[in-house]
Amino acid sequence: MAELRGLPAAKNIQERITERLVEYKKSDDYPGRLPTLGIVRVGNREDDLAYEKSAVKKIDSLGMQVKVFEFAQDISCEEFLKEFKSINDNPDIDGILLFSPLPKSIDEKKVLKILSPDKDLDGLTLYNQAKLYVGEKDGFVPCTADAVIQLLKFAGVELEGKKVAVVGRSPVIGKPVSMMLTAENATVTICHSKTKDLKGTCKDSDIVVAATGRARMIDADYIGDGAIVIDVGINVDEDGNMCGDVDFENVVNKAALVTPVPGGVGSVTTTILASHLLDAAIKGVKER
Ligand code: NAP
Repeated sequence: MAELRGLPAAKNIQERITERLVEYKKSDDYPGRLPTLGIVRVGNREDDLAYEKSAVKKIDSLGMQVKVFEFAQDISCEEFLKEFKSINDNPDIDGILLFSPLPKSIDEKKVLKILSPDKDLDGLTLYNQAKLYVGEKDGFVPCTADAVIQLLKFAGVELEGKKVAVVGRSPVIGKPVSMMLTAENATVTICHSKTKDLKGTCKDSDIVVAATGRARMIDADYIGDGAIVIDVGINVDEDGNMCGDVDFENVVNKAALVTPVPGGVGSVTTTILASHLLDAAIKGVKER
């Protein structure tokens, strides 16, 4: 019966970033340039702009830097691929955050073939996806999926042997979080829109991770007494208010822990992005 807020976990990760950055700046490898994130945005989608604003603020506050590369919505595929290659090949950019989906006119698969796995902070490339799939821990995983795991670990939740229902199978959240939970020795059921008896599967689980994009869909009927509920959803309800995939008010008295929206997983995601940026910078200078 408690709210699991993201901020304490985020602060804890930020303290480690600050310590690691101090060490990096003192090391012989330090190139005399702050770790630099390249944000690549095509068009002006509201959710991209909101995430960009919080990413810039977070990375700046942690003493690193950001360059934003903004392109018109109607840029041609050929032109974008050329521009993206030059950003990717720029030795002064340590990591890249590419907003997707890209406009339909741009072939995203071709873009991701250009993106260097070492700069792929959100684990979008097939190379990093394969590393996660085979259990190699030195690749990048999607920041949101990583935020879910870090939040659970910070809350002291034992994952080994636990039954987990992950509701959603997207390549950016559902699948990677399922792989990461499996690597932590949890027993994971991946659920989706065609799952039969979704309620029963969730109710029978120790942990439910909701990533459906369906506002307040998971109510108390889906949750067993004392379960832990992680809400990844970011939705806008009919009154224009931000809400998650979980009906928080309905579930909070039944679950042992439940993350609020806003204030839960989303509060950890940009901190994870900053942490991935520092990893990329440190790894990058060692390899150059
Ligand atoms: P997505 O690509 O639309 O995937 C949604 C998944 O949910 C699909 O696998 C879909 O099943 C499943 N689903 C949809 N309706 C369902 C239902 N009624 N019952 C069971 N499963 C259902 O969405 P996404 O990109 O994974 O994002 C999920 C949510 O996370 C969204 O609200 C998004 O805004 C949010 N998000 C949060 C963060 C953060 O930092 N907190 C970051 C990114 C995204 P099928 O595969 O069968 O269609």
